[in-house]
Amino acid sequence: MDDYRTHVEIDLGAIRRNAEAIKAYTGKRLIAVVKADAYGHGVVPVTEALRSVADMFAVATIEEGVALRQAGIREPMLVLFSTFPEQAAQIVEYELTPTIADWEFAYRINEIASKPVHVHININTGMNRSGMRWTEVTQFLNRLETLNRLEVSGLFTHLATADEADKRYVSVQLERFSSVLENISDGGELIHAANSAATLAVPESHFGAVRPGLSLYGIYPASEKPIVLEPALTWKTRIGWVGSISEAEGVSYGLTYKASHPTRVAMIQVGYGDGYPRALSNIGEVLIGGTRHPIIGRVCMDVSVVELEPTDNVSVGDEVVLIGKQGDAEITVDELAHRAGTISYEILTQIGKRVKRIFKY
Ligand SMILES: *Cc1c(COP(=O)(O)O)cnc(C)c1O
Repeated sequence: MDDYRTHVEIDLGAIRRNAEAIKAYTGKRLIAVVKADAYGHGVVPVTEALRSVADMFAVATIEEGVALRQAGIREPMLVLFSTFPEQAAQIVEYELTPTIADWEFAYRINEIASKPVHVHININTGMNRSGMRWTEVTQFLNRLETLNRLEVSGLFTHLATADEADKRYVSVQLERFSSVLENISDGGELIHAANSAATLAVPESHFGAVRPGLSLYGIYPASEKPIVLEPALTWKTRIGWVGSISEAEGVSYGLTYKASHPTRVAMIQVGYGDGYPRALSNIGEVLIGGTRHPIIGRVCMDVSVVELEPTDNVSVGDEVVLIGKQGDAEITVDELAHRAGTISYEILTQIGKRVKRIFKY
């Protein structure tokens, strides 16, 4: 492990415990969202760790679903954004559960399939980025009955504002969703609406299953924290160089930081080419020796620079924590996202390919 310039440590036990806590809290089935490489955590190990807890997995794209099938994951796999009719053959071949919101795609799948294909219907109740408008669903379902190899095994919607304190629009969406459900005779479908925010804050959105992503990884999407979640990811790098500069000397591209006194500085081996946001230039903080140290100057592609205290006893190779705990100190994903002017989701999914994932089982 000592030769990584930067790596993340993923606590798979924490992810499994988070999933168990969510299941116990909701008492519903769990559709574990593992899109975007399990929010940057590493999708195959995460999915394997959740096998015993999750009732179904959800990915964003057909490619993600196929990759999991090729890795030997046989569990039910919902593809949240499957839209191109050309991909119908892969849905059938890899036994993925597509999201249906239009006739053409449904028709193509039915044409190709030689045995029943489970599908979920995406109902647009006001998020307005995908799905079939709620007022048209009942009629569409009737038409779908003519496609005899398609089996509608799920109905879902997605909430636009569940992470906001004002839940009025959530109620509007849930009422629209319920108006569709009232017209459906068959009770066999899996009904789901709750992302992490709704899972933690809107019990009436739980229906038959919840569909959380972020919270599985131990991050809260909003202020509501009814259960304890453990962050699963620690991001580390190592010191690559230590130097001293005089008063008024600058650091890194553009010399945007100017030393106000003679200062010791250290280069750390992480940059925006690893997904460490350039927005943290002169704003970020990292942990060295259990205390916070500021990023000075611009974050570069491969490295960044931090200011050292005169008392710091550091050398090349020492551990630096970017996200996570070191001694009594901690930098959370939320803090880092806030400083960089973004959200935890973006920080996690931008952690780059050069950052080695190390799994703790
Ligand atoms: C990403 C996604 C989720 C999970 O959202 P979180 O906020 O990470 O819990 C659930 N449903 C859909 C349709 C999504 O796109």
